[in-house]
Amino acid sequence: MSFQVFGTAVARGVAIGRAVLVASSRLDVAHYFIADVDVGEQSERLRTARERVASELVQLRDALPSDAPPELAALLDVHLMLVHDEALVEASLEWVRSRHYNAEWALSAQLEVLARQFDDMEDDYLRERKADLEQVVERILRVLTEGTEEWPSALQSGARDFAGEDPLVLVAGDISPADMLRFRDGVFQGFVTDIGGKTSHTAIVARSMDIPAVVGTREGSRLIQQDDWVVIDGDAGVVVVNPSPIVLEEYRFRQRQAELERERLARLRFTPAVTLDGERVEMLANIELPQDAEPALQVGAEGVGLFRSEFLFMGRGGQLPSEEEQYLAYRQAVLAMGGRPVTIRTVDVGADKPLERALPNESRQDAILNPAMGLRAIRWSLSEPAMFRQQLRAIYRASAEGPVRLLLPMVSHGRELRQVRDCIEKVCAQLKSRGQRMGSVELGVMVEVPAAALVLRSLLPWVDFVSIGTNDLIQYTLAIDRADQSVSHLFDPWHPAVLGLLARVIQECREQNKSVSVCGEMAGDLAFTEVLLGMGLRSFSMHPTQIARVKQRVLRCDSARAAALVRDVINAEDPAAAAAAVGWGG
Ligand code: PEP
Ligand code: MG
Repeated sequence: MSFQVFGTAVARGVAIGRAVLVASSRLDVAHYFIADVDVGEQSERLRTARERVASELVQLRDALPSDAPPELAALLDVHLMLVHDEALVEASLEWVRSRHYNAEWALSAQLEVLARQFDDMEDDYLRERKADLEQVVERILRVLTEGTEEWPSALQSGARDFAGEDPLVLVAGDISPADMLRFRDGVFQGFVTDIGGKTSHTAIVARSMDIPAVVGTREGSRLIQQDDWVVIDGDAGVVVVNPSPIVLEEYRFRQRQAELERERLARLRFTPAVTLDGERVEMLANIELPQDAEPALQVGAEGVGLFRSEFLFMGRGGQLPSEEEQYLAYRQAVLAMGGRPVTIRTVDVGADKPLERALPNESRQDAILNPAMGLRAIRWSLSEPAMFRQQLRAIYRASAEGPVRLLLPMVSHGRELRQVRDCIEKVCAQLKSRGQRMGSVELGVMVEVPAAALVLRSLLPWVDFVSIGTNDLIQYTLAIDRADQSVSHLFDPWHPAVLGLLARVIQECREQNKSVSVCGEMAGDLAFTEVLLGMGLRSFSMHPTQIARVKQRVLRCDSARAAALVRDVINAEDPAAAAAAVGWGG
């Protein structure tokens, strides 16, 4: 039966593929494709794990004391029966054979299938056996993951071996930014999640991968079944499940159109972005990993405006990267950009980008209901000075290879800048005494907290440049959690308070001769290109995939006309009037 699921469109385009359902609690098991030759080995792992769990259960049952409640023995018998049930391990082996899933993934996939069958059962007793099934699977997974590395190298290589089968799309309750990173090698054609909003970090990573995604579907992962054919319409925020042949053909046509448009835009790659009246606009890239720098250059990036260094810290089971590891990563990005500036933001963990490791003062964190306002970003760095200095050393060392700009996230107070400058002084002295080479590093601050926008004049003397993080600026100005889909309709960049702050920050920077750029999602949103130009912005930093589209818009804009329009936008009484002032439906 064909039906539709609605959510928030976060990454454009159309993806068509078979649904791979992954429960978020099980996303932390490895998911990777295996090569043909490894099918036997993975199947054997699964069988061996089953046998081990079965014998553990037998031992447990046999060792029960005579006064143990009889229910306990009965429960272990049920678990034993489930372990041997063909519908579990034997059916999982079929995922290994036909889909080339690794053993853990195959078992999790089969669990999703069986869990739904249990959910649909009329009989209460049988329905409740789902919990037993989950426990049995957890046991087998535990055996499987014993002694395996957290980041199997096969994650990349196996996926490539597996080209040519049905395309796949990932459907999950939620996907953490760290998990998104694992799927960056192009295994999935699109993503659907139950939760999330337009600027949640999962959405941002999906956009950086330039693959269609719909988030905030609420029930999507419950309604869509494993292996269903799914169309993700990333423009409209709709997921069509088991589409009819006519609908499918329409979407395939749209896919082809999008491909043609992409080819047309690619021709603008090396055209400088200049407005109709001759204003030069800088087009920078936002990147998550050093290997993103090279492709960014290929699509015309003139530098990196935001390297979200926290992605180097994720998916490592809480193990922080050493100074050397970080240095090599930053150096790779700097070398790839061949003399163009690379803006490295110090680690911005917390809120929806958690580290697996407990934050300092763990018990306090456990009680925090609102992590977006907690120990995040620069606050976290300053509370862990040894870790912070380690990162600064790595960044300063990388500056020996090319121009580096150091960017501080979530600053809200001049005191934080002074503390950072003290740390920098110490780090530079240390590196000098070690005889290590360094270049000159510009210091910049992100304006993403309203307080920073309001006291900008007192911050500017301490910094060389400013980067406006509109994602958080909107979140904190409007008090809308950017990751919460229940309020995502209120997350509105057209709000006069947001536009007023933006205009004010850009103007103040220009008056004080400090370079200013926008690196939040607004920079890559065509609806705002003219508005930002009109406010005086001449530097945009965005996902590389957006660069050509925004450049095309810049080439068609007149900055003087934009400046005149902006007066109406800023003076608009409500978001709809602001959008209408630039002829946008908003
Ligand atoms: C922002 O807040 O706009 C920004 C660019 O930072 P992040 O999205 O990583 O929080
Ligand atoms: Mg931010």
